[in-house]
Amino acid sequence: MRETMSATILTIDLDRVVQNYNYFKTEVQREATKKAERSAAGHAWYSSGEPAEVAAVLKADGYGLGAEQIGKALANAGCGTFFVAHGFEGVALRSALPDAVIYVFHGAMAGEEALFKEHGLIPVVNSEAQLKHYAEFAAQQDYNVLALHVDTGMNRLGLKRDEFQKLCAAPEILEGLDVRLILSHLACADVENDPKNQLQLAEFDELMQARPSQLKSVPLSLANSAGVLLGPSYHYDLSRVGIGLYGGNPFSDRGNPFSPVVKLETEILKITRLEAGETVSYGSTWQAERPSVIATIGVGYADGFIRAGGLNGVVVVGGKKAPIVGRVTMDLMMVDVTDLVPDGVSEGDMVELLGDKVTVEHLADRAGTIGYEILTALGSRYQRRYIGG
Ligand SMILES: *Cc1c(COP(=O)(O)O)cnc(C)c1O
Repeated sequence: MRETMSATILTIDLDRVVQNYNYFKTEVQREATKKAERSAAGHAWYSSGEPAEVAAVLKADGYGLGAEQIGKALANAGCGTFFVAHGFEGVALRSALPDAVIYVFHGAMAGEEALFKEHGLIPVVNSEAQLKHYAEFAAQQDYNVLALHVDTGMNRLGLKRDEFQKLCAAPEILEGLDVRLILSHLACADVENDPKNQLQLAEFDELMQARPSQLKSVPLSLANSAGVLLGPSYHYDLSRVGIGLYGGNPFSDRGNPFSPVVKLETEILKITRLEAGETVSYGSTWQAERPSVIATIGVGYADGFIRAGGLNGVVVVGGKKAPIVGRVTMDLMMVDVTDLVPDGVSEGDMVELLGDKVTVEHLADRAGTIGYEILTALGSRYQRRYIGG
């Protein structure tokens, strides 16, 4: 008896994740000499010429692909530091990775601090108020590790320039605290030549040169995936990489150096033969110009295959591309397989919606969005399979 389960399979290739991780490692190692030169020239690095550590960002359940599985594969490959967004994500990750360093980007919400202590999570402190609260907690509870986020122009989280300068002028609040990392986040790293990158780099350097003695030996972090590839000036001591690990392109204006990690496949549910002039799906937006063979597949926008991704979209059937026709519906979409006949396309044949031929970026471009959103939207109605790792 076949158990009833989704005919749609999402395969996540953990070896490819590790390969992408190693790409980052090679990049920071290759550039370490240049980094050392810059350090010698008086820039803000505290470590001279050590390659930056490559930490993995596993927020949003590892960009939708499984934080636990990806975290374990990366830990086996030598990754020791991880970032999540929420405290609860950190708690979940801790049971999978008992020995890892886990930072929580949003910091500890009021009342959550004890949980951070219990699970050994490190909050990223993002505001003066968070710093004050955490210092009070640390004084009472004998748990005092944190990271400090400094805002250099993203204007999302972190101490603004004047707030950081205030802290530098009156650093007593840091006395009982153990600051493990100072980080900032780039707003425009996806566009290599955006002048904002240089501005943020200069701002970070300037603020870090002026930091008080308590913070002089704290490691620094600025780069996300795209930031690492901007060059050694951006590497500092630790990089926080996400999208590249998952095979997405960190850049909006150049090619993707990373290998695809996901494959999404499903079965053809039904073949329908149309005469010229007949239409397909809601709104009858697509009309057959010739006698056509249409395959219906059981993936729709409720599975995270966003509706706009159907426009000019293609899937791969038997190694050949076939266009998506008509509107993507909640649970189903239709594909024109006329040109694949007579080799034979039958009900039950597999169709690839995402993979090496149709990449996450390709789908994102069509849908007017970014790879990050395609990945994190991938739904829960699939059978998930992990290979490698
Ligand atoms: C999500 C995030 C990252 C990772 O960014 P990618 O572009 O996916 O590499 C790094 N740092 C911060 C603060 C983030 O929020």
